Amino acid sequence: MQIAADKVVSFHYRLSETNGELIESSHDSDPTLYLHGHKNLLGAMEEAMEGKQAGDKFTVEISPEQGYGQRKEGAVQRIPIKHLIDHAKLKNKLRPGMKVAVNTEHGPWEAVVLKVGKFNVDIDSNHPLAGKQLTFEIEIVDVRDATEEELAHGHAHGVGGHHHH
Ligand code: ZN
Repeated sequence: MQIAADKVVSFHYRLSETNGELIESSHDSDPTLYLHGHKNLLGAMEEAMEGKQAGDKFTVEISPEQGYGQRKEGAVQRIPIKHLIDHAKLKNKLRPGMKVAVNTEHGPWEAVVLKVGKFNVDIDSNHPLAGKQLTFEIEIVDVRDATEEELAHGHAHGVGGHHHH
C-alpha cells in the first residue's frame, strides 16, 4: 500500500543536523505514527513521504525555511520567573537547557532556559531546531487505511500516535 491522503503511516527516523551530529532517533522506541495529508508533519516531509511504501528507506533534507524557521535574536528575553507556567513547582528546579512554558498575551509559549537568576530567567523562545539545516533518514515500517475515528480527529491513534482516549 502506498502513502497517500488518509493513510496512517508508521516510520522510524534518524534526525541529524546536515553533515552534523545526531539530534534524535526513533529506533530505540516504537515507530512514529501519523495520518498523511492532514498537516501532521512538515510540508516538505509529507511531500517526500507521498507514494512510498513499507520497507522504503530514503533521506529528506529540510532547510530552515521548510522546517522551523531562522533563529530570531529578539526571541532571547529576560523575564520574571513568576511569568512561567507552573512557576511555583519549578522553583529551585530551573536549569539552563530546560524547556518551560511562558504565559503571554497570545497564550502559552514554549521556550528554553538559558540562564537562571533569583527573580528572573533568560529564555530563548526560538524553536530548538530553528536555523538548522536538517537531514531525516526515514524508514517506512507500515502503511494502513485510517479508521473513521482517526479521520474525524485528524490524527493517528495507537502506539506512537495520540493516546488521549
Ligand atoms: Zn484522537
